[in-house]
Amino acid sequence: MIRNANEQVKQLCGRPCRIRVEPGTRRRAKLEMHPPNTLRVLVPKHMKSHEIQRVIQNGEPWIEEQLRSFDAMGIRPYRFASGDLLWYRGRQYSLEVEPQNGSPEVFCQPEAKKIIVRHAPSDPDTVRRLLEHWYSRQARELLPQRAAVYQGRLHVKPAGFTITGARKRWGSCSPKGRLSFSWLLMMMPDEIIDYVVVHELCHLLEMNHSRKFWSCVGRIVPDWRRHYHWLQTQGRRYHWPLPQ
Ligand SMILES: [Zn+2]
Repeated sequence: MIRNANEQVKQLCGRPCRIRVEPGTRRRAKLEMHPPNTLRVLVPKHMKSHEIQRVIQNGEPWIEEQLRSFDAMGIRPYRFASGDLLWYRGRQYSLEVEPQNGSPEVFCQPEAKKIIVRHAPSDPDTVRRLLEHWYSRQARELLPQRAAVYQGRLHVKPAGFTITGARKRWGSCSPKGRLSFSWLLMMMPDEIIDYVVVHELCHLLEMNHSRKFWSCVGRIVPDWRRHYHWLQTQGRRYHWPLPQ
């Protein structure tokens, strides 16, 4: 099945995978595996299709390893329909989609362990878009609040905040002192959110990962190593599909 010129669904390692080929200015091909089953193939602009096939073939052992690790983390594709399990601040909620006319509503009901989307139409693309807006709105509210808790202790002040949809880059700090955070962080436990916020605030003092930088992080988050390791090993559990 071909969805567009650069994306197709193919059997890889014994299961259907979405393969997206993205030509760009890079000099060497690179494979990226995105949960639950998307293989992103970043290639030089004029790479021939048989060469691309070879890159994918050579990558199969690695792809299989990635798919196995997704399985082990219990990663499932979303349907963006009632019954999906969604993460929010480290807890799992069941999605309930209620087709309803009027302006769209998305809200969390912690007691019922539900995230409710009220909107018509309620097709998967619309539900997904509404959820993305909801998560980014939560991030825009919470992350500056969490930064405010720590910036006084570190004697720093960010120039501003940007919320992104980055899949792996949970946070970053620009040379001008602007902090960016991915809204995907909103799925993770609060202690991880705080660690990422502190990490980026410390970059306002140290624009590197030197010993001095980590000792700055350690002053606020003494067990930062545990969080760092958690993000490396568990971060991908909190996935979201790439835009179509
Ligand atoms: Zn860093």
